[in-house]
Amino acid sequence: RPIIFWHRRDLRLEDNAGLYRAQKAGGPVMPIFIFDREILDKLPEKKDARVEFIHQSVTELAAAYQEHGSDLRVFYGHPKKVWKAIIEEYQPGAVYTNRDYEPYAKVRDLAVKDLLEEAGASFHDFKDHIIFESDEVQKNDGGPYTVFTPYWRKWRTILDSRMSQFEGEELSYYLKPYPNTKYTDRLLAGKSDRPVPSLAEMGFAPAGIDIPPTEVSRKLIRTYDETRNFPGIEGTSRLGIHFRHGTISIREKARRAMDLNETFLKELVWRDFYSNIIQSFPRVVDAPFKKDYENIPWENNEADFKAWCAGKTGVPIVDAGMRQLNESGWMHNRVRMIVASYLTKHLLIDWRWGEGYFADKLLDYELASNNGGWQWAAGCGTDAQPYFRIFNYDSQQKKFDADYTYVKQWVPEYGTPDYPKEPLVEHKWGRERALRVYKEALAEA
Ligand code: FAD
Repeated sequence: RPIIFWHRRDLRLEDNAGLYRAQKAGGPVMPIFIFDREILDKLPEKKDARVEFIHQSVTELAAAYQEHGSDLRVFYGHPKKVWKAIIEEYQPGAVYTNRDYEPYAKVRDLAVKDLLEEAGASFHDFKDHIIFESDEVQKNDGGPYTVFTPYWRKWRTILDSRMSQFEGEELSYYLKPYPNTKYTDRLLAGKSDRPVPSLAEMGFAPAGIDIPPTEVSRKLIRTYDETRNFPGIEGTSRLGIHFRHGTISIREKARRAMDLNETFLKELVWRDFYSNIIQSFPRVVDAPFKKDYENIPWENNEADFKAWCAGKTGVPIVDAGMRQLNESGWMHNRVRMIVASYLTKHLLIDWRWGEGYFADKLLDYELASNNGGWQWAAGCGTDAQPYFRIFNYDSQQKKFDADYTYVKQWVPEYGTPDYPKEPLVEHKWGRERALRVYKEALAEA
């Protein structure tokens, strides 16, 4: 009975924790991937850049296996139905995979685990997507951290101690690469009887969006702390989409960050932090982390929301950000914070509306980081500061895009009579309204 290795958000053969465990368990290991119709059928747009990216990455993964005399079996359907068919056809003895912490994935995995156990097969999942899981970085009293800075300090201490404690292939691989290619003789040999379906066979078409490379120059990482806040320059890694789908290893990039730039490492740790938050507090997926914030009387003005989505608020940096998102599927982090603050504070629109819009548009969309970023902006998240941090878009403009390079790149009509003279909601008035509304709502909570 073969061991099946199920790829999900780990579309690579190298440095793959779960695959390594499957290889070490014996073999032959039969790698698979499932295009999930529960997700694909709900996508409104058939030219979807993320589907195209996954398709391309799965094709490259299959080629990587072929280079080692093995192959990837690729299925398309509803996971439970696909698994029933796999169990019948291949009769696996065990299934190995890497853990996915999102609520949908957890429910799906439990259902698959049940199916396998009924068929006498075991299910094994491993940590691969992040560096530490929520039970690894805990406060001294055993509880989860809810504020980033102390979390980061503890994370760093734990990493240092684990790295000096363990050596060798079989032990903890904190930042060491898993040597998957050393054991390719354990992979099931021969060609796949389930080749990668074409995009068209699944009802999709290429969207034609540029995907950033998986490698980043040493120089960019070295100078990241100086460049990362300026949206007009290419000062960040653009690796988000690759972390999301595991086309690169988080361990490898963290290792590099440790050598080159501590600030970059810290950003990677934000990703662990937000993942840990949804693991410890799954309720935050659709509710505020700070429960008192449930009762904010949002304005939720549909026309304002539409203007924000389209990049037509009359605030240059907000408009530039939203247009960058709409046109390229990515927005600079500094500007994500500014547009999110404008939506939730100045326009008084529920953070979940913005979160949903980002979820539809971002190529690097990651539920935990997106939710964390939005709740941080709305003031209801894991933030030491409560609601009164309200970004002043003019000072942000002056500080981070003083010569309007970024604004001009995305808002060509800026500075012409076609651009609105007044913003939808002006800073001072909007700030005072937000402070009043938040304060009153919290006083009643
Ligand atoms: P870099 O600056 O090069 O950082 C490297 C990597 O570190 C990123 O790819 C990402 O994996 C991680 N990282 C950096 N900053 C953060 C952060 N604040 N939180 C979590 N991880 C971080 N990030 C996502 O990956 N997916 C999202 O859906 C997402 N939504 C966001 C929504 C809002 C409102 C805000 C304020 C931030 C959001 N972020 C999200 C965090 C951050 O903006 C992006 O990770 C970053 O801009 C991606 O660009 P980059 O790959 O060039 O990042």
